Amino acid sequence: MAASKVKSVAARSGAALPEQLVDLARWMAGYYVCPLGMVLATMMPAAVKRGTGRRKVERVARAVIAPEAEAAAVAGLRPGTRRAWEAVRAVPEDEFPMGPRELALRVGAKSVAPVRSLIAAGLLTIDVGSELRAGTLPGVAALAGGVDGVTPTPEQAEAIGGIGARLGEFGVHLLRGVTGSGKTEVYLRLIAGVLAEGRRAIVLVPEIALTPQTAGRFTRRFGVGRVAVMHSGLTAAQRHREWARAASGDVGVVVGARSAVFAPLAGLGLIVVDEEHDGSYKQDRLPRYGARDVAIKRGQLAGCPVVLGSATPSLESWSNAASGRATLWTLPTRAGGARMPTVEVVDLAAERRARHAAAGGDDGRIHLLGPTLERALEETLGSGGQAILLLNRRGFAQHVLCPRGACGFALRCDQCDAGLVLHRRGGVGPAGFVRCHHCLAEQRMPTLCPSCGGKINTFGGGTQRAEDELVRKFASMGLAEGATLLRLDSDTMRSGRDFFEALSRFASGEARVLLGTQMVAKGLDFPNVRLVGVLDADTALNLPDFRAEERTFQLVSQVAGRAGRGERPGRVIVQTHTPDAPSIRLAAEHDYVGFATAEMRSRRRAGLPPVTRMARVVCRDAVIDRARAAADDVAAVLRREAGDEATVHGPFECAVSRIAGQHRIGVDVVAERAGTVQRILAAARAAGVVKSDAKTAVDVDPVALL
Ligand SMILES: [Zn+2]
Ligand SMILES: [Zn+2]
Repeated sequence: MAASKVKSVAARSGAALPEQLVDLARWMAGYYVCPLGMVLATMMPAAVKRGTGRRKVERVARAVIAPEAEAAAVAGLRPGTRRAWEAVRAVPEDEFPMGPRELALRVGAKSVAPVRSLIAAGLLTIDVGSELRAGTLPGVAALAGGVDGVTPTPEQAEAIGGIGARLGEFGVHLLRGVTGSGKTEVYLRLIAGVLAEGRRAIVLVPEIALTPQTAGRFTRRFGVGRVAVMHSGLTAAQRHREWARAASGDVGVVVGARSAVFAPLAGLGLIVVDEEHDGSYKQDRLPRYGARDVAIKRGQLAGCPVVLGSATPSLESWSNAASGRATLWTLPTRAGGARMPTVEVVDLAAERRARHAAAGGDDGRIHLLGPTLERALEETLGSGGQAILLLNRRGFAQHVLCPRGACGFALRCDQCDAGLVLHRRGGVGPAGFVRCHHCLAEQRMPTLCPSCGGKINTFGGGTQRAEDELVRKFASMGLAEGATLLRLDSDTMRSGRDFFEALSRFASGEARVLLGTQMVAKGLDFPNVRLVGVLDADTALNLPDFRAEERTFQLVSQVAGRAGRGERPGRVIVQTHTPDAPSIRLAAEHDYVGFATAEMRSRRRAGLPPVTRMARVVCRDAVIDRARAAADDVAAVLRREAGDEATVHGPFECAVSRIAGQHRIGVDVVAERAGTVQRILAAARAAGVVKSDAKTAVDVDPVALL
């Protein structure tokens, strides 16, 4: 039994991709304009190709030989080895096969040398195989939120029944459910139906390390042995093992981040894309694919339904539902009788005036929390509640500037078109270093203005400054950094395990406040969270990207959804400089349909996706004239191919015009149909001006336009 198991793993190390994935790779190479070999390489994790975690396994057994042959062999043994053989003969047959070391111990030999001699003499046989060794995964099931086994609400039952009736056929289903409405329960019941038919399912979650609670629900419901987990927090050996488990057919469900869409599962019966609006589904390096769209293509190839779930669907999916390309299912209320939280939008300018009026003037400090949020946090902590605070900017200060108008020096990265961000190096206070968030270069923080030698100032607050402020203002209520107050951003959370530990401490009630970037907005479900504060709702709004309003709406709605998921009602306070921005106002009113309708109207007017389809080609070069010349060539070919079927914009300087020393000149092609964009790109590719290499990046259906 043990030996056959070892062999079956070894046999798998040939690790070939199923035919269906090869077809999917061909489609991706064409659609996303990238080399087929690169797509195939992406589909199979490097750990699988290298065989990471596999180690040699030896099993020995007694040889089956004639008595006279045995006698002859024994006659040739040295006395010590002969005694060992006598002991080996006394071992009951059913204990074999076993490892050489195990056998040596079993017969009281001091080393494996006698066992090796017996193998050499032909008295023992040895079978060399391999097995996969990898550490166990953190027990995410323990953190799982939500309640299992409850009777579905009528709306959940309708979605489960409706999609469940079409399990054997391809179709795209959009499940729009408000935060806390029980979308996961719908997935779980659909998957139970798929497994009952002997088929398998893939569940994609934005970045599983950030959504351990959702992942935990699947292992809790179906058992660790039936679920494989794939995400960036795994070691190479773990990744290899989970891939092999999926390929072997032992598991029924694969839960994972973006690349789990390539899980080598046979008999696929369902694909779920949870939080389908999330930007992390798009890979921002080669191959630049969108996992949501790849999931739809894979569902089509497998002939199974694809369920896209979100409280705030992307406008792409929303417009597909409107045009009938996707079927819409709606969960309009929270499960278990919980109510949606009340959201108050507060104007930061008014907050500042109120503070000055109360204090009799400016106290010279930067306050990231206004008086309204301060009072609410005080009440929440005073009544034993927990709070989540969102500030979607890392570091201590965003700008390092000379305050003297005549000088005007601003610290910028010399390799990128970007300012340097001040990060504090441990402890409290602004002492630290400056870092470029694009190329990650670091320098020491200058003590004086490098230009005029005067005093230098910092402006704009990130999560580190907010942490300082919270400790300063709430230490008397027991807030202490790293203990009752946890900061969650990519500087403190280096691995999935860090995040898991922080969430465990919050779940136990030991930590009272979670402060973080968008990490805290994703999928967290803790019943005692009575307050959610958004320190600055405008961080995404000011970006030069046509999806700025959509992102802001999503971020505010998603983080607000973390409040009031237990029996007590939740309160949300959103601080902003633009209280009238539709994305903020409508998120506060929980009005997705109102937002989507207005935003679709403005996209239609501007001819932007999802009303149209877009691809962007970015030409990069250390010499700006070369980047421009390449972009001119690209634009000329695209225009010639576009005729009057598509519009070509550019060449233009990208919003971030230089990264890591490379100038970036872009050209956009926009058409009504995806097929037109594809035809034009294919022609430009054939003409040799559009290739995916170090100098040109082709991004089809781009998500980030900086
Ligand atoms: Zn830089
Ligand atoms: Zn200066």
